[in-house]
Amino acid sequence: MTTHASNPLGIIGAGTMGAGIAQAAASAGWFVRLFDIEQPLLDKATDRISKRFDRMVEKERTTKEHADKCRSRITTTTSMEDLAGCDLIIEAIIEDFDIKVEVIKQISKLATDSVIATNTSSLSVSDLGSASGCADRFVGMHFFNPAPIMPLVEVIKGDQSSESAVQRAMLIAEAWGKTVVQVADTPGFIVNRVARPYYLESWRIVEDRYATVDGIDETMQKLGEFKMGPFMLTDLIGQDVNVATTRSVWDRLGKPSRLAPSEMQESLIPKGHLGKKTGCGAYGHDDRNNVVPAIVIKVRDLELSTRLTDVINTVCLEATCTSGSMLEKYIFCRVLVGIINEAMWAVKDGVASSEDIDTAMKLGTNYPRGPFEWAEQIGMDNVQELLLSLNETVSDDRFTSPPFDAVTAK
Ligand code: NAD
Repeated sequence: MTTHASNPLGIIGAGTMGAGIAQAAASAGWFVRLFDIEQPLLDKATDRISKRFDRMVEKERTTKEHADKCRSRITTTTSMEDLAGCDLIIEAIIEDFDIKVEVIKQISKLATDSVIATNTSSLSVSDLGSASGCADRFVGMHFFNPAPIMPLVEVIKGDQSSESAVQRAMLIAEAWGKTVVQVADTPGFIVNRVARPYYLESWRIVEDRYATVDGIDETMQKLGEFKMGPFMLTDLIGQDVNVATTRSVWDRLGKPSRLAPSEMQESLIPKGHLGKKTGCGAYGHDDRNNVVPAIVIKVRDLELSTRLTDVINTVCLEATCTSGSMLEKYIFCRVLVGIINEAMWAVKDGVASSEDIDTAMKLGTNYPRGPFEWAEQIGMDNVQELLLSLNETVSDDRFTSPPFDAVTAK
């Protein structure tokens, strides 16, 4: 394992992500200088990191000696000057364009040779770089939470990012054992964009009153083998955070109907029904992790055309080993093809290759398969037929696909 005493990693912001990235880097042998504005915030971060190492020792995932060594590699500071000699500096402060620009400007003047990266989830890397005056050595490094565990890093090349800065960021993340995908600077990058239909199409099925939140969650887990259903997942992410990501991606992509926010989901926010953290969201949550659906609807019968029924049956034969009712198959097909369609739009828009999109969705969200792997298994003709027949059932054309020859699967 290589250590980098002379060229440590600098991290600005010791919150959820900054602390997680510090732990990931220290575990891989890197010395880390962690900066935040106040010492108590840093103390809280080191305490959290230390407890996580303790748990790893308890679970025999590492030895006490190794955990102590990793802990000792992280030093904290409230003086940004201390980050001046760092090889790479990752900014992980609050998601606010102006505050980020101020901080990046400041660090770029202090650390004149460092590659500077932002962990932003929703802001433009190109805009942050040019507003900060260090665009050529500025890139995006989008980690996933929890950063020590999640294997994916999206490395984002801004308009003016130099190839050497991008390569440096990719090599360093790989040296920490991460799988890296290179992504164009587009809204939501790969994961936060391609995952949108998993939530949105599910919310729309409830809005259409075809199925309940728990019915949809069960179906996606049963037929799709997703680890968690869309409603439980949004309750864990936070309905407010999920809605804000949807709004940001939708706005910045020019408001396509397929990514339009769900009215029903947005109505939870003013009521404070933000998910597990407030005790209520799509489900009510109690202290013992018991859940009951909090969105009660009167379900109506599903009526499908022969064309749609036929293609749903064909798609399910190819896409799942599990049998289900016609309603379950409809839910699974509608949500899945929404994800596949968004992945195709992402390829069409030059976000990333189909291979990288598959990798990102499996590692960044734990999807059982990548959207293009699914499409290949189902057959592109069937995917196209499913999109066309679903589009006949909606008034907003949201199942329109990009031209298939522009996005052929692999
Ligand atoms: P957080 O609120 O947990 O932590 C932010 C930290 O930044 C705080 O400790 C705060 O004191 C510090 N900070 C605020 N202003 C500062 C300043 N001017 N100078 C230095 N430090 C300052 O936030 P987070 O969840 O860790 O998110 C950080 C970044 O990572 C955001 O850009 C977010 O979009 C992105 N991100 C978050 C997640 C996630 O799941 N939380 C995932 C991927 C990316």
